[in-house]
Amino acid sequence: MATTTANEYPASTSELDETQGAPGYIAWGVLLWLGAMHVGALLAFYPGYFSWSAVAVCLILHWLTGGVGICMTYHRLLTHRSFATRPKALEYLLTIIGCCASEGGAVGWVADHRRHHAHSDTEEDAHTPRRGFGWAHMFWFMTPDVTSRHTPAYLAKWAPDLERDKVHVFLDKNHLLFPLLLFVGLYLVGGMSWLVWGGFLRTILVLHATWLVNSATHVWGYRTHETRDDSTNLWWVAIVTYGEGWHNNHHAFQTSARHGVRWWEVDMTYMAIRGLSWIGLVHSIRMPKMPRKEAPVATRTIGAALAAGPLHRGDEPELVAAS
Ligand SMILES: [Zn+2]
Ligand SMILES: [Zn+2]
Repeated sequence: MATTTANEYPASTSELDETQGAPGYIAWGVLLWLGAMHVGALLAFYPGYFSWSAVAVCLILHWLTGGVGICMTYHRLLTHRSFATRPKALEYLLTIIGCCASEGGAVGWVADHRRHHAHSDTEEDAHTPRRGFGWAHMFWFMTPDVTSRHTPAYLAKWAPDLERDKVHVFLDKNHLLFPLLLFVGLYLVGGMSWLVWGGFLRTILVLHATWLVNSATHVWGYRTHETRDDSTNLWWVAIVTYGEGWHNNHHAFQTSARHGVRWWEVDMTYMAIRGLSWIGLVHSIRMPKMPRKEAPVATRTIGAALAAGPLHRGDEPELVAAS
């Protein structure tokens, strides 16, 4: 029987049929952190911690960490390279903002998401709802099986570009520092009300909004494009994720910076990217090419290339600027 250690990435999941989904490994650090966040968020029900300034801080930081940090940076910039920043240092600053969402370091996040695109809704997808809605929403990373643990080999396979970047590796290893510093800052400036609303409650709201993209937008909603997965477009997820809910559009045009395609598919993250381009901080914005019968340029993804084999320097898939 084939065995797999924590430091070996399996050649294929066929080696893992007997261990996939087996109870045993629990990511205790993640579980305790998220449990503490949920308990902390409940403190928002205590009237003594309510203030309008705390609500404002909660909303602003929700957009900043969830919209700018996760949707714009972790997802569209680092995972899919659908645009580029000028200067490069801005990419690192945006990544620090992403760390403040408490979704882990960028390298592991990007690796998981590229793998999702390469194997969407198959047995090799770490968070397909076909394995259960709750699994896709939040349990997959709390009880990761051997196919999705963040081993060095796993990260090297799915995020080799970020693994070569010393700054990204440093930020990834120290990602927890940034939400902790933010919590301390909130407490020092605004007291318990800012900590509870801008720290704990905001974190929980951002986390569940992000997780809905993995769960709800592979179950409910409408499909504009006949992709090979179960992805859907869902308006209310698009609202709470600043445009990420147009997930079927995204699976069809994965490297496009714009996810909302129809005029009423509002995409706040794309608007923010455009806004940054107007002041010269963003360039090389990639767009979907529609309509066309064959697979569009934008669907030739980094994730698909990585699934085909390990990358070496200079082998990265070409990021073609769509007109
Ligand atoms: Zn998806
Ligand atoms: Zn994606």
